[in-house]
Amino acid sequence: MNKLQEILEYNQLFVEKREYEEYRTSKEPNRKLVILSCMDTRLTELLPKALNLKNGDIKLIKNAGATIMHPFGSIMRSIVVAVYEFGADEVLIIGHYGCGMNNLNAENTIKKAIDRGISKDVIATLSSAGIDIKKWLHGFDSVDDSVKESVELIKNHPLIPDDIAVHGLIINPETGKLDVVVNGYN
Ligand SMILES: [Zn+2]
Repeated sequence: MNKLQEILEYNQLFVEKREYEEYRTSKEPNRKLVILSCMDTRLTELLPKALNLKNGDIKLIKNAGATIMHPFGSIMRSIVVAVYEFGADEVLIIGHYGCGMNNLNAENTIKKAIDRGISKDVIATLSSAGIDIKKWLHGFDSVDDSVKESVELIKNHPLIPDDIAVHGLIINPETGKLDVVVNGYN
């Protein structure tokens, strides 16, 4: 059985047994919160459990590194929509220790792509078209600075109103312990 079959088989039973009933909620986040965190596998269940978050409580956005790459990219768009369309009035940026995007070796990633059959010409063409792949793949040098930068970017964003509190935190991916980097109420 392949991965998709496995998922579909389980899914059929899940629906048949009406296991979804305990997760029923609405589109509006009950806790009026939007959280940006990392896609790290260790955080999938740990993060909601460690913060006592239930289905329906928050809008959760995830990517590699909990980073905002661009003030008008998809992460920022999601935050703006969460604020205006879903009533979120606080934002939490939650980076984590031991993140794969901390000092990601972009050179190495490009080498892996080439080993997997991506032609060097493609890399060269992208570069000559002005796409700096190394810069695009690069994560951050310090999770602390990365979280602070994201908080600043949101606070100073032209479409985010002044009354939105933006907090910056770092979670321990083993214990779930949170360290506050920026307290958005100050
Ligand atoms: Zn991470």
